Amino acid sequence: MIDEGRQRAEMVDTQLVPRGITDPRVLAAMREVPRHRFVGPGMESAAYGDHALPIGEGQTISQPYMVALMTQELALEGDERVLEIGTGSGYQTALLTRLAEKVFSIERVEALARRAQKTLDELGYTNVLVKIGDGTIGWSEFEPYDRIIVTAGAPDIPQSLLEQLADPGIMAIPVGDQGFQELKIVRKERGLTEIRDAGGCVFVPLLGREGWNGNG
Ligand code: SAH
Repeated sequence: MIDEGRQRAEMVDTQLVPRGITDPRVLAAMREVPRHRFVGPGMESAAYGDHALPIGEGQTISQPYMVALMTQELALEGDERVLEIGTGSGYQTALLTRLAEKVFSIERVEALARRAQKTLDELGYTNVLVKIGDGTIGWSEFEPYDRIIVTAGAPDIPQSLLEQLADPGIMAIPVGDQGFQELKIVRKERGLTEIRDAGGCVFVPLLGREGWNGNG
């Protein structure tokens, strides 16, 4: 029998800590959340490898390091309301539920949203709302959000997301062309917005009104 707990500990020790993931809460959550439950059937044995994996519908679950890096950049303390764009498998969502108060997650592909919701339910991660729709325009009903995380590559930072970010607030979003992006960390504080680069990355495209194939 495969010991997933041991695989997770090894993932943390060999892939995350040596590359600079130091936030103890992030490391603990990555040791705890069963990543193998979020990958497709038959792929469980590859779930803890140092790479992204297909999750169906042409989409991917990100490499563990990228998930950890983006999560660490959000600097979560436990009382935040987080908006996530690109639920995908729900793995990143699950980590956020462990680290923040409430997660609002949007996925445009219905089949993925439904499967993610089911997995999150089965695992008992209940402080989350998943909605099917275009996340580039945010989720106005529950704004503002203390944190926003976008796990698909955007051509630019969507204006709607900037507006729905609380002050103070932090957003992590990959911005670039469809083949390669830079992870941007946006910080809003006392009315000022500051943007910093946190490294190169490759995500599937953020499709929608304020993403790729938008109307303007
Ligand atoms: N965080 C996910 C990774 C998902 S890949 C995980 O851990 O599995 C990116 C996801 O973003 C895909 O599922 C894709 O369908 C979704 N996506 C792309 N554009 C979107 C949009 N405008 N709104 C919501 N989801 C979007």
